[in-house]
Amino acid sequence: MQNTSEIEELVKLISKLPGLGPKSAKRIVLKLINNRDELVKPLAKTLAEVYKNISRCKICGILKSSAVDCSYDNCKIIEKKYNQICVVENIADQWSIENSNVFQGYFHILGGTISSVGQRKEDLLINSLVERVKKEKIDEIILATSATVEGQTTAFYIQDSLKNVDVKVTKLAQGLPIGGEIESLDDGTLLSAFKHRSKLNSNSR
Ligand SMILES: [Zn+2]
Repeated sequence: MQNTSEIEELVKLISKLPGLGPKSAKRIVLKLINNRDELVKPLAKTLAEVYKNISRCKICGILKSSAVDCSYDNCKIIEKKYNQICVVENIADQWSIENSNVFQGYFHILGGTISSVGQRKEDLLINSLVERVKKEKIDEIILATSATVEGQTTAFYIQDSLKNVDVKVTKLAQGLPIGGEIESLDDGTLLSAFKHRSKLNSNSR
């Protein structure tokens, strides 16, 4: 390919995106170059804005504008008051659950699982989850981690971390396919897993 180094660099970067190899990356780059004003310009602007303004909340893990400080009050960015927190591994899981409309409440994104390669449990937002439950009026924690060994180990560790906190802890139903990752489940399976979730602890609630 007789390309300039900028083009080669762009192809290299785009082929790092999920689902794209070098071939589709080249097609995307061509499309971009042929649509400089309609695509390249607004894309460059939006990417710069996302880089500058969007970050993960250090408490609840959701994506937020960095203009908003992380504080236990700000995690309730949804105007409505809820009494449930759904705990998921990553943002893709949050988006799947939101799209399926099976849950109305707060989310808490751990940022991985305990046994993920190179993932230490100190890096996951577990301590801040316990703090949130203590500070907000939360009745129920729904553990929506994957049906993988790592997901279940993480769920068990969270359940244990909450053992001295007065909150009901539930886990999605066993109907989840073994090895099933939340983000790849269809709406029907998700609905059933939420509906038939089981209580894990013996707290009074
Ligand atoms: Zn937050």
